[in-house]
Amino acid sequence: MLTGKVALVTGAGKGIGSEIAITLAEYGAKVIVNYAHSQDAAEEIVKKIQDMGKGAVSYGCDISNFAEVEKMMKEVAKEHGSLDILVNNAGITKDNLTMVMKEEEFDAVIETNLKGTFNCMRHAARQMLRQKSGHIISISSVVGLSGNAGQINYSASKAGIIGMTKSLAKELGGKGITVNAVAPGFIDTDMTKVLKDDVKEQMMDMIPLKRFGCTRDIAETVAFLASDKAAYITGQTISVDGGMHI
Ligand code: NAP
Repeated sequence: MLTGKVALVTGAGKGIGSEIAITLAEYGAKVIVNYAHSQDAAEEIVKKIQDMGKGAVSYGCDISNFAEVEKMMKEVAKEHGSLDILVNNAGITKDNLTMVMKEEEFDAVIETNLKGTFNCMRHAARQMLRQKSGHIISISSVVGLSGNAGQINYSASKAGIIGMTKSLAKELGGKGITVNAVAPGFIDTDMTKVLKDDVKEQMMDMIPLKRFGCTRDIAETVAFLASDKAAYITGQTISVDGGMHI
């Protein structure tokens, strides 16, 4: 399905990003496994993909740094011949109720989740415009659609990703490039492990399919959007949340 394609997945050393990297590789893409801090974890994912007989390399780059991202996108395109798929997965949380949220907590989440996604979109789009093809998929969240108490920074960043996705889809539609987002519900990763059991129980009550999502649920949707099977889909946000946001 993705044979011959070059895919860059941000924050792919663990969690949802690592599963996306492995899944895209299974479908035939050569994968660039981006990380900011978790180099060892990223190298492990690269090895796992190589052991499957597929192509992968790691690339360290903080996505919130505009110049570093520009360098990464240029080097990837030069070294691997093209950049066909960008998955904006990297993200952080710094939760707090609005009245006590520190300025640094708000800024850090916006810098990584929103600005970081913009940086990657901006620099990858230049390469894709040259190729006149490409797929950009960004990981938003159910919280970007519904809001969530204690996550004013995170929900703003994830709602912003949906807005950027629609805008960029309109800018690039005529150039053979699709731009979409995926909005996961509750997925079992390090990000959600920190939540207390009573919070998890409350969330389960809101999920019609009565289970938390797994990373593969998200990765398969991303792979579909990165393939020609989704050639006529752009500017959309696909919820993968067990019905949490109906
Ligand atoms: P995770 O396990 O905490 O992984 C987050 C990833 O983001 C890590 O690989 C981390 O890499 C990377 N990252 C953070 N800051 C970065 C930066 N400045 N530059 C590059 N990479 C950076 O989280 P996850 O649960 O897999 O979440 C992945 C995405 O899905 C996030 O965007 C998250 O908001 C979204 N999401 C998750 C859920 C859920 O329930 N888990 C639900 C909705 C949406 P380093 O360790 O190298 O920094």
